[in-house]
Amino acid sequence: MFFDKVNYRLLFKQTCSLCQLQTAQINGLCEDCHADLPWLLLGCPVCGLPRSFPDQTCSHCQQAIPRFDRCEAPLEYRFPINSLLPGIKYHGRIQALGWLAELLSHHLQDRCETWPDLLLPVPMHPIDEALRGFNQAELLANLLSQKLQIRCDSGQLRKAHRRVKQMTLSASARRNNLKGAFSIRGELPQSVALIDDIMTTGATADEIAGLLKNQGVSHVQVWVLARTPEPDLD
Ligand SMILES: [Zn+2]
Ligand SMILES: [Zn+2]
Repeated sequence: MFFDKVNYRLLFKQTCSLCQLQTAQINGLCEDCHADLPWLLLGCPVCGLPRSFPDQTCSHCQQAIPRFDRCEAPLEYRFPINSLLPGIKYHGRIQALGWLAELLSHHLQDRCETWPDLLLPVPMHPIDEALRGFNQAELLANLLSQKLQIRCDSGQLRKAHRRVKQMTLSASARRNNLKGAFSIRGELPQSVALIDDIMTTGATADEIAGLLKNQGVSHVQVWVLARTPEPDLD
């Protein structure tokens, strides 16, 4: 009989989440799509900004050291990531977070030197979250929490004030716009990782890290999927 000869594993093999053609081999992608991702190979040791040489601190961090200690980002915010991440946020294509979280957790297992005691997703204002229906940073943080077995709390860090959208502002205006926008509830451990989908200028991470350090947190990492290349916002 025909069905006796069918290899059922072939029928149910997972296809690549990007090309939808080849079999998924690594992090939900085929080998070709995985290799073609815009990997961030050399980044500033503090903020992760893509650099040309290893361990080259960027000019932004030399001028004003950020209040967070380190940013980990496996990818640069270039194609196809610069169409995937807006697709998650603005078109609800949240299934892509599955393989992206897998990719980020593998990156962290290779690169992370100090494991945090708590994951805090960068919050949205409740009105913005209600309008979108979800906070992609919280979904990502929950997936990482399961994979890495680190506690995640999406209620401790809150966005108390709704501000002008950051994307329309210059870097210095972003920093001013964020002052006092976030608040913290409850006790925090010594070491925390902030989770977001993308880091652009780092103004949000810097503002929250300052708040966390004022509350006694000694080590703040930022874990994101993608880091934008040199900001042209100054
Ligand atoms: Zn593929
Ligand atoms: Zn830097």
